[in-house]
Amino acid sequence: MKYEVVIGLEVHAQMLTDTKIFCGCSTKFGSEPNTQTCPVCIGMPGVLPVLNKKALQFAIKTGLATDCRISSFSRFARKNYFYPDLPKGYQISQYELPVCEHGCIGIIVDGNVKKIGITRIHMEEDAGKNIHEGAGTYSFVDLNRAGVPLMEIVSEPDIRSPQEAVEYMKKLRAILRYLGVCDGNMEQGSLRCDANISVRLINQTEFGTRTELKNINSFRFVEKALEYEIKRQIKVIESGGRIVQETRLWDPNRGITESMRGKEEAHDYRYFPEPDLVPIVVEKEWIDEIKASLPELPDIKRDRFVTEYGLPETDADLLVSEKPLADWYEEAVKLGGQPKSVANWIMGDLMRLLNADNKIIEDCSLKPNQLVDMLRLMDNGTISGKIAKSVFEEMYTTGKDPEGIVKEKGLVQISDSGEIEKAVDDVISKYLKEAERYRAGEEKLMGFFVGQVMKVTKGKANPQMVNELLKQKLSS
Ligand code: ADP
Ligand code: MG
Ligand code: ZN
Repeated sequence: MKYEVVIGLEVHAQMLTDTKIFCGCSTKFGSEPNTQTCPVCIGMPGVLPVLNKKALQFAIKTGLATDCRISSFSRFARKNYFYPDLPKGYQISQYELPVCEHGCIGIIVDGNVKKIGITRIHMEEDAGKNIHEGAGTYSFVDLNRAGVPLMEIVSEPDIRSPQEAVEYMKKLRAILRYLGVCDGNMEQGSLRCDANISVRLINQTEFGTRTELKNINSFRFVEKALEYEIKRQIKVIESGGRIVQETRLWDPNRGITESMRGKEEAHDYRYFPEPDLVPIVVEKEWIDEIKASLPELPDIKRDRFVTEYGLPETDADLLVSEKPLADWYEEAVKLGGQPKSVANWIMGDLMRLLNADNKIIEDCSLKPNQLVDMLRLMDNGTISGKIAKSVFEEMYTTGKDPEGIVKEKGLVQISDSGEIEKAVDDVISKYLKEAERYRAGEEKLMGFFVGQVMKVTKGKANPQMVNELLKQKLSS
């Protein structure tokens, strides 16, 4: 490919505070329209906003977790535009003095860590929501969301492919969720992403003209929208055209981006400092206090899992992607589970079952001690690995303990050589032709015989003993 792709993301994260950013109204989702409003958030004249300290603390937390410099002095600004969901006629945001700047987030690219720069993190208020359905010739406005605190996290144009963009989003989401500052739900819009993208010839130093893609509400769409836009831009350039700087809307149904507004129609926001709020002065002691309260973050946890439990990096990476998953894993290991087997059961059977039910680990009734008990039953030969799979599934669906399931269903492994020998003899006498062929050198038939013995013993025969006995009997 002759072209290099350049991407920078602007991510809006809704903060998990109980109340709005400049008033005491609740941020609870899904209430009756306009029940969580007050004169401040519906933009009555003469009211005064007061900053929610928790929102500031959350923004600082995020800044510290992404290696940002925390501004000791920052300020809010008015971003002026008219839209019915914005009753004041301006959004309170931050402009020239954001709360955090110059950070970075590490992602893994081709097995190496690549740092994506964070230009800035600033706080702002969300707007309300226009509702066009259900009414005849008019629309409704719900202001419950007006004033809900957001963080905007702006990356440097350091991202070089749609896949890197997805990795960056995933890592950012994991960090926000570890910190407990945002639930990271992209479908519900608590994490939203605008993607800026341009292409340039390899070796060219200046960036190409960028477009900004909106309405991307899943990881899959981040990738798809960017891939579409790369192809589109290259096609325009190759056919002698020029890219125009514009905002484009991703249409997930048609899988294309479409022009929404050009540079000429771009807003002039006439930013100016917000006179109703005092500048924010953050003292070093408070920053230190917040720093000391940060949890162990995904990257550090991954490295620790690798050194402490001897896990491959890819396993560790997957296990730390969600803190509750990492906690579940560690609890099982602390209870005596062999680290790699625990990882395998989580990444294999548990993930498969959770995905099939569209569930997350927090909804899982299977507890780490139950997996560890089951692993013990395998280790001491009570159940075979094959039986363990069905015990695991039963534990997962019923929440019962493995011993109980094994007893109730009579799943104890048959390790009595007499009983196995009988099953082996029966099978060989039933399949005399196959036995002849095996003896004549068709060794791959061993698998067939093992399968038949397992069938006769309902999967309970100790596989090692079955193999040994079959080999003995078939070679004599
Ligand atoms: P605006 O505020 O108008 O959206 P910014 O300068 O703040 O513009 O940039 C927004 C985003 O666009 C940032 O994430 C930045 O990294 C990215 N960006 C800037 N220039 C380019 C470019 N030429 N190609 C791709 N992304 C870019
Ligand atoms: Mg922008
Ligand atoms: Zn309010």
